[in-house]
Amino acid sequence: MNSFSYARPDDVAVALDDLTAHTGAKFIAGGTNLLDLMKENVERPNRLVDINRLPLSSITDTEDGGLRLGALVTNADTAYHEQVEKRYPLLSQAILAGASPQLRNMATNGGNLFQRTRCYYFYDTAMPCNKRQPGSGCGAINGHNRIHAILGTSTSCIATNPSDMCVALRALDAVIRVSGPSGERTIPIADFHRLPGEEPQFDNTVQPGELVVAIDLPAKGFSDYHTYLKLRDRASYAFALVSVAVALDMDGDQITDARIALGGVAHKPWRKSEVEAMLIGKPATKANFQPVAEALVEGARGYEHNTFKIELVKRAIVRALGQAAKLEPTA
Ligand SMILES: Cc1cc2nc3c(=O)[nH]c(=O)nc-3n(C[C@H](O)[C@H](O)[C@H](O)COP(=O)(O)OP(=O)(O)OC[C@H]3O[C@@H](n4cnc5c(N)ncnc54)[C@H](O)[C@@H]3O)c2cc1C
Ligand code: SF4
Repeated sequence: MNSFSYARPDDVAVALDDLTAHTGAKFIAGGTNLLDLMKENVERPNRLVDINRLPLSSITDTEDGGLRLGALVTNADTAYHEQVEKRYPLLSQAILAGASPQLRNMATNGGNLFQRTRCYYFYDTAMPCNKRQPGSGCGAINGHNRIHAILGTSTSCIATNPSDMCVALRALDAVIRVSGPSGERTIPIADFHRLPGEEPQFDNTVQPGELVVAIDLPAKGFSDYHTYLKLRDRASYAFALVSVAVALDMDGDQITDARIALGGVAHKPWRKSEVEAMLIGKPATKANFQPVAEALVEGARGYEHNTFKIELVKRAIVRALGQAAKLEPTA
């Protein structure tokens, strides 16, 4: 690990100024991703601005009936918060499907948004990786790519976003609040993460020097009909091979609103609202779910070791829709 200086401000403006004043500085929250990357020499900040003393650790109601999750609330405290469990159980379920209790006690909501890919080549500094070192090539495209993306890939990068929380946030249409040198702004979760294109070094649309201060959940929480289905190699403590967040509104057996977000298949949580519209006004039946699964993964491309994901995710979509509509139990 390289040497670095350290600051622990208790004011947002001071934290922003400190970061801007030091080229190569990074914020650190729970440290569960950044410290690993520093130990592997993938990230080499020369200064850490510890944000844990900033006043961003509360969960409050918003004026429009939603809920505001502070960036520094831990994943555990978010998942077990009374209002989140009651109004946004999809989010609780997704967070609790991730990592381990110990990690969730340290990991913060802000940090989770920024967690980096789990591509093996990204972590191995002896290997080419356009995300770690732009222009060096991609070790995964012709390498071991079992965990990699099947949608939205580019010739530069086929990495996935590994977050469970962000898949649920995408289904819920969360809005990210950021503070930076030019003031505050909001970013819809759909625009927060990006596809790799020719610049896979950029995971998201946050600008240098900006700090995530909160995540806003809209009033509509889909608490009656929802599920987060995560398929992985082990039953716990493993990242998703594929995951599906489904949120439905139902009138009897008719679907009146539908959201389907996919994890483990792309560089960002994957959603297509035009495909979700195929379900509106239709009864919740497997026969109606199958064409939706096909349409959601249309254009998917498998690589040498991950073609199985295409069929896996289609089956997962059908199963998750069945679980959310209460046609079958949630495992
Ligand atoms: C063994 C292991 C297993 C895991 N399994 C899963 C899993 O199954 N599912 C899953 O979803 N996740 C999993 N994770 C990832 C874990 O959820 C993330 O490491 C965690 O959410 C990151 O949060 P943090 O607060 O620790 O971030 P940090 O490590 O402190 O920071 C991560 C990055 O975010 C930046 N950052 C942090 N907060 C802010 C902010 N407010 N504004 C701007 N930038 C910020 C930092 O500068 C850094 O670049 C796992 C991690 C480990 C180590
Ligand atoms: S898939 Fe992306 S992260 Fe992985 S080696 Fe290729 S460029 Fe790097």
